[in-house]
Amino acid sequence: MIRELTFQQGNYLATKINCSCGTECSLELKRGNFVYHEIDEKLDKYFNLSTKTFIFRTVNGKEFELTPPNIGLQKAFGDYILKENNEKRTPNLAFLKIIPFMLSGRTTITYDGIKAKLKEFEEIDDISFQFLNAAVGKMTFGVKELKKNCVACGEEVRAEMQFPNGASGIFVIHDAFEAYLKE
Ligand SMILES: [Zn+2]
Repeated sequence: MIRELTFQQGNYLATKINCSCGTECSLELKRGNFVYHEIDEKLDKYFNLSTKTFIFRTVNGKEFELTPPNIGLQKAFGDYILKENNEKRTPNLAFLKIIPFMLSGRTTITYDGIKAKLKEFEEIDDISFQFLNAAVGKMTFGVKELKKNCVACGEEVRAEMQFPNGASGIFVIHDAFEAYLKE
């Protein structure tokens, strides 16, 4: 998402895949082409039907209510990340991954609202943080593969979403130490 927001139009990483009709298709790394993993079924029994949220109690006596962020919240956090990026601040990605899931019942949040949540969050105890990070990991609709329709025949083409050095390889230059050190 950061990449899409930052690079704007027409600057996507892409992978080439041959359709069964013989046409070579370019599958861009963008959200419109993503196929997501399902939410981990281990979470099913914590889903509360009346609130439509997941409710977890942890060993340190805390209770957390989590729900995947709706479009309004996703947009608010997207705008926040874009603003931070434009103003050369590094967003706290560890918390920005978790906070959108902790705003059950809300449809949006202001820039200052996110700032306040971040401040609140930086005080969180380690067990809670580790738990939330893991829980959100299970709820995050991780990208499984890429798909789009072939431009020639319209059939669906799919490609695995794999990066040689993991997903962070999109942003982090592998071996930057050796690559950029002037000897
Ligand atoms: Zn085709």
